[in-house]
Amino acid sequence: MALVTTTEMFKKAYEGGYAIGAFNVNNMEIVQGITEAAGELNSPLILQVSAGARKYANHTYLVKLVEAALIENDIPIALHLDHGADFEICKSCIDGGFTSVMIDGSHHSFEDNIAVTKKVVEYAHSKGVVVEGELGKLAGVEDDVKVSDADAAYTHPDEVEEFVSRTGVDSLAIAIGTSHGAFKFKPGQKPMLRFDILEEITKRLPNFPIVLHGASSVSQEYVKIIQENGGNLADAIGIPEDMLRQAARSAVCKINIDSDLRLAMTAGVREVLWNNPAAFDPREYLKVGRANVKSLVAHKITNVLGSDNKA
Ligand SMILES: [Zn+2]
Repeated sequence: MALVTTTEMFKKAYEGGYAIGAFNVNNMEIVQGITEAAGELNSPLILQVSAGARKYANHTYLVKLVEAALIENDIPIALHLDHGADFEICKSCIDGGFTSVMIDGSHHSFEDNIAVTKKVVEYAHSKGVVVEGELGKLAGVEDDVKVSDADAAYTHPDEVEEFVSRTGVDSLAIAIGTSHGAFKFKPGQKPMLRFDILEEITKRLPNFPIVLHGASSVSQEYVKIIQENGGNLADAIGIPEDMLRQAARSAVCKINIDSDLRLAMTAGVREVLWNNPAAFDPREYLKVGRANVKSLVAHKITNVLGSDNKA
């Protein structure tokens, strides 16, 4: 199967009350772990690449790894640019085989965000590629994206209609309390998402796909393995899965998961190396990390996203 856009996936997810997982890819083992899980569960999939991933693994390697995954797994896969910072990186990914890009103009003024997003949409649509925009600011750190708690801001529902109609975006990332990284809430702070804001946005944008970034749940199972094997991730805390399930049933059609993959991979590698200091074959520890990635993605698909058997 060739790469697809997210148009059909989102339409079916919206109508079916589930969400598509958008998983960040950085190397072969991560691509394999994610796509094997989705392939076995017959789930549609979004593989996303950040600017940091392109810097680390190189654009061509990532595209070719995803193409290999398409040969090995008979499921629809969209290849998406995560957090495109400007028109140039979006254009480079559109010209380089991606089927979806995000232009993140959320750090600009409302008018400048509209201007850059509209420019990307015009170019992308002329090439058959879809575009995700962002309104509101998520806190946290992810690759090149850094926003302090003080600068974070919920999406204003009264801005969404104008933003979508003037830019022509195909989906919209919103800020309702999720954040990037493995420390989403302070110790003792009760995790909370503003479902009232999501509901208000949905009223103003009927049948329009919404995207949640920073939606890892930071599995305490993997945190524990990392802690027990010489790591230090005390106080790591994510979004509770029941909140993500609630989001998946709503207008949220795309849920981004990155930190959970990092934790799963690291837990596997750490466990092998900590227990066997003489190990030096990379396959020995990477295969355990890859198996963790696969079981994490299978869990997300069946128990959180609800996208199994929807390919
Ligand atoms: Zn993000």
